[in-house]
Amino acid sequence: MTNNCNFCGKDKSEVEKLIVNADVSICNECVNLCHGILESESKSAEYRTRHEDFFDPIKIKNFLDKKIIGQEHTKKVVSVAIAGHYKRVISNSIYEKANIMMVGPTGSGKTMIAKAVAKYLDVPMVIADATSITESGYVGDDVESVIARLLHVADFDVERAQNGIVFLDEIDKIGRKSESASITRDVSGEGVQQALLKMVEGTVVRVPPQGGRKHPEQTTIDVDTSNILFIASGAFVGLEDIVNRRNHTMNIGFANTSNHTVNHNIIPQDLVHFGMIPEFVGRFPVISKLESLELEDLVAIMSKVDNNIVDQISSYFAIDNIELEFEHQVLEDVAQASIDLGTGARGLRNTLESRMLDAMFNIKEIKKN
Ligand code: ADP
Repeated sequence: MTNNCNFCGKDKSEVEKLIVNADVSICNECVNLCHGILESESKSAEYRTRHEDFFDPIKIKNFLDKKIIGQEHTKKVVSVAIAGHYKRVISNSIYEKANIMMVGPTGSGKTMIAKAVAKYLDVPMVIADATSITESGYVGDDVESVIARLLHVADFDVERAQNGIVFLDEIDKIGRKSESASITRDVSGEGVQQALLKMVEGTVVRVPPQGGRKHPEQTTIDVDTSNILFIASGAFVGLEDIVNRRNHTMNIGFANTSNHTVNHNIIPQDLVHFGMIPEFVGRFPVISKLESLELEDLVAIMSKVDNNIVDQISSYFAIDNIELEFEHQVLEDVAQASIDLGTGARGLRNTLESRMLDAMFNIKEIKKN
């Protein structure tokens, strides 16, 4: 038996507790130290496995497939962009940051894809409406307030915020009205694009810890935006005409070649024609187009994805031991109503629930019968 810790050599009287057995002794301080070492090793192993998942676009897409119907191309493009982004952040790969521009109609899944990505990566995300952002100095949210919100969502963990996602919605609404209208150009939209550009390019934003306006004497928290992933999104109504016109011009140029293929992809110049400033477009190397959802897609959204609305309503009835079955035709009618309204998947829940309202309200009566 010994009165000294065999690890650090301290005497029993110098420590709070000395654990002894026949051959060795260890003090409470060394136990804590060893515990710390073991914990940090297991954390870093867990961290490595998690990050290996982030490096694999197939795993990312499999995750997205459970939540998002259709939009195969966008899911693929986003999965590769995310894997590339994390290779850059974690392994200092030279792969350049791939901010993503999603172009597609309302209710086609743009916000949902971004939210699913944030969930998969377990990173903080904020959704900012580009139309509510103003140039600094004007009334409204300025660009800094977006980063302040991100920091808030990250519980003021600067490191987490710096690897987060900023989703810029309605980005098309801050375009100039037309590329050629330079004399009467929409200065405010362009000003906001300029203000956003700095943040997207990578800058250090000084965030006041309590939020609100900055005071000169107030201490601020610095947040570097270089590794934040920006996902911009908009419906870009009218962009299709720009793409078609460009294709038409190209077709004339290629009139003599018999086997050329018409490319329906959006190229950066199309967005510039739409009214986005070239520098801003240049910061979004990934441009992806989402398709309008078709009838069967909408039916699948109601009945097939994780946590879908049909399952949710069914569970409302199941608690009262009522088994509910939706006829396919009912779901098709609801889907068709959404198509007619042009709201994509947005109105589905509302329409289905309003059709079910009476039954949900009278559930106790139904149960009696
Ligand atoms: P937007 O394209 O306008 O950003 P959202 O992603 O906000 O549309 O979609 C609105 C809602 O519609 C989502 O919360 C989701 O429930 C549903 N939704 C839209 N598109 C899809 C999709 N492709 N797959 C599954 N659900 C979708």
